[in-house]
Amino acid sequence: MAMNFMKDLPTNLINGLKYCTRCCVPETQEGVQFDEMGICTACRSSEEKMHINWVVREKQLRSILEEAKFKSGSGYDCILPISGGKDSFFQAHVLVKVYGLKPLAVTFNQNWVSETGFYNLQRCLQVFDLDHIQFTPARGLVNRLAKKSLSAIGDACWHCHSGVGAFPLQIATRFKIPLLIWGESIAESSGRASYVRPERKFDRDYFTKVSAKLTADEMIGDGLSAKDMKPFELPSHEEIEATGVWGLHLGDYLFWDEERQTEWIREVYGWKETEMEGAYKGYKSAECIMSGVHDFTGYLKRGMGRSTMQASVDVRNGLLTRKEGFDLIHQYERERPEVLDYYLKITGLSEKEFYDIMRKKKLKHLKDIDLPIHAKERPNAERLVPFVEQIIQKHLNLPDPRITRDMESK
Ligand SMILES: [Zn+2]
Repeated sequence: MAMNFMKDLPTNLINGLKYCTRCCVPETQEGVQFDEMGICTACRSSEEKMHINWVVREKQLRSILEEAKFKSGSGYDCILPISGGKDSFFQAHVLVKVYGLKPLAVTFNQNWVSETGFYNLQRCLQVFDLDHIQFTPARGLVNRLAKKSLSAIGDACWHCHSGVGAFPLQIATRFKIPLLIWGESIAESSGRASYVRPERKFDRDYFTKVSAKLTADEMIGDGLSAKDMKPFELPSHEEIEATGVWGLHLGDYLFWDEERQTEWIREVYGWKETEMEGAYKGYKSAECIMSGVHDFTGYLKRGMGRSTMQASVDVRNGLLTRKEGFDLIHQYERERPEVLDYYLKITGLSEKEFYDIMRKKKLKHLKDIDLPIHAKERPNAERLVPFVEQIIQKHLNLPDPRITRDMESK
């Protein structure tokens, strides 16, 4: 017995960091708390999840949605913020096919959409027959924000964190649609919330607090004007109140199992995965080419990236042992992502400048710890340039289709 236990002890931890005694989450994860047994908040939540009466929760959801339908009259019943990711399909399925709602689909396009992501979003709109509004920030603005974001918040993605929060709210207040419906519960992996008391009240500043960190105003400067920041402005408290905006996560009302859901939407609706840099699963943020840099900066800052989150969920769900989790993290998380080349190109930063900025962002727990980085072994399966840029490049260099046809027929 003792021998077996020893064999299972993880060896790939970062020395000097405290980890959850049950999963793979280190003390550097934002907002994490360990109880007296050394168990993290998300592990505790996953225990709660098993004891929740999901039949009662589903009834609550049903009555919320019925009321929304009743109140909306001939308008849209709710806003469905979608990216085309796996949650988008599952949310749309639940709302449209199960409960018969008429949602307005709303997308903040980070302008880094991969070819697979482009397909997924279009397929989602098609298969659920959704009306859709999309906002796409200008290429130049995205590039400038990607540069500023790194030194401001320590990852490349401020514009996405911020736009994903702000744009659905702008549409909610403009179209007077009070209810926003997201997918996975915040309790699932972040440790910021609990299943016992799902967050129902809507908090205007939620996305700023949890992911964007800085408001649109705070990003002004370094070539970014107040005008540039317009897409990221949140509606005022008064506007939010006037519409009565609030939101919910379906994962607080329906038992959430992302592995099974993903399998199912792949089979039933033709959703596609792709290779995700820094991760051993192909389904999180599959729409975005930049997720490799996002997760790599997490590793350089906190010693943890996407694989730590995925492995921890899998350990909680009994799909991996803790040691297997740490082995996967070791294999994937420390790779230099290929999309770093594109990031350096659009920001004009050198690789040395990138690492210098990230060194300043490193948490104090890790200051004296050398974080190993290794090269990626194979080229990425999918081209890591925004799909729209690929289309422009392709057509820019092609003659008028009539010329091509006439040449071929000669
Ligand atoms: Zn844990």
